[in-house]
Amino acid sequence: MSERHHSKVLIIGAGPAGYTAAIYAARGNLQPILVTGLQPGGQMTITTDVENYPGFADIIQGPWLMEQMRRQAVAIDFARRPFVATGDSGDIYTGDTVIIATGAQARWLGLPSEEVFRGFGVSACATCDGFFFRGKDVVVVGGGNTAVEEAIYLTNHARRVTLVHRRDALRAEKILQDRLFRNPKIVVVWDNVVEEILGVPEPLVVTGIRLRNLRTGALTEQSCDGVFIAIGHTPVTGFVAGQLPLDQEGYILTRPDSTETEIPGVFAAGDVRDKIFRQAVTAAGMGCMAALEAEKFLAAQEEPVSVRAAK
Ligand code: NAP
Repeated sequence: MSERHHSKVLIIGAGPAGYTAAIYAARGNLQPILVTGLQPGGQMTITTDVENYPGFADIIQGPWLMEQMRRQAVAIDFARRPFVATGDSGDIYTGDTVIIATGAQARWLGLPSEEVFRGFGVSACATCDGFFFRGKDVVVVGGGNTAVEEAIYLTNHARRVTLVHRRDALRAEKILQDRLFRNPKIVVVWDNVVEEILGVPEPLVVTGIRLRNLRTGALTEQSCDGVFIAIGHTPVTGFVAGQLPLDQEGYILTRPDSTETEIPGVFAAGDVRDKIFRQAVTAAGMGCMAALEAEKFLAAQEEPVSVRAAK
């Protein structure tokens, strides 16, 4: 039988933004409910070493960090105004405010070998994993802003960066393209797709890629130590489409310097509204902002109408 749960703050999504919002809302005594998806911990559960989250001098693991956040948020119940959300199980969650923190999913090529080496030489985040390729050869796949930025960023660590793009022109902004073409460490391979990621099993490491030229059909192999897939992200916003304003790519729009959406009492934090930074720490920061803004919103609602009107 389905159950009904009500909270002042209903948080949907359990990555760094959702967990941080839960911690802050719980500290505000708002007894939040956090509704997790199929992948509690979000993208952090598919990364391995994390070196860029403050407070940890040693390398930590993404899934471990998510577990620590979950433990901190354990005082909360996991599981229209008030807003109503219905879970897969049929359970109904209502909230006086809602924080959407459902994140974004990196797009992958869909190759079985990509799956095998993910976290072992294949990554979708240069800022997270680039450091591990110091002095090595890496490949970036994609032709948009992300791919170009990642390729440029990776030259800080890698010896050589090859950008593989399926067409003969980049989609990235001109200024980024200029920077890319000027960089002596970067080589661009046009009109090619990665057909296979090559590697060895013990220890599991990437050794190269097999490319297919889309114009000629020719197959070539190139050695490399790492492959960064940068073919875009998809924000998880399908369930709010038509209810909240989204940008062209489906990211939730919020007011400047705020997590407030167009609907009063509905906030959005983390990668679901941020396509630029996409870091665990920036998502966590936005989760904190959303909880504080929800708290402020609820406090204003509880004020007598005469006080509100006088403001
Ligand atoms: P994007 O603009 O959608 O670019 C994705 C790239 O991947 C395209 O070049 C596309 O090729 C290629 N691609 C897609 N599927 C592929 C596949 N299966 N195999 C091979 N290549 C594939 O994604 P993005 O670069 O992540 O950017 C997303 C949004 O965020 C954009 O609006 C971007 O401007 C914005 N962004 C902005 C900044 C910034 O302002 N600094 C930084 C990052 C991102 P085609 O070109 O052939 O379609």
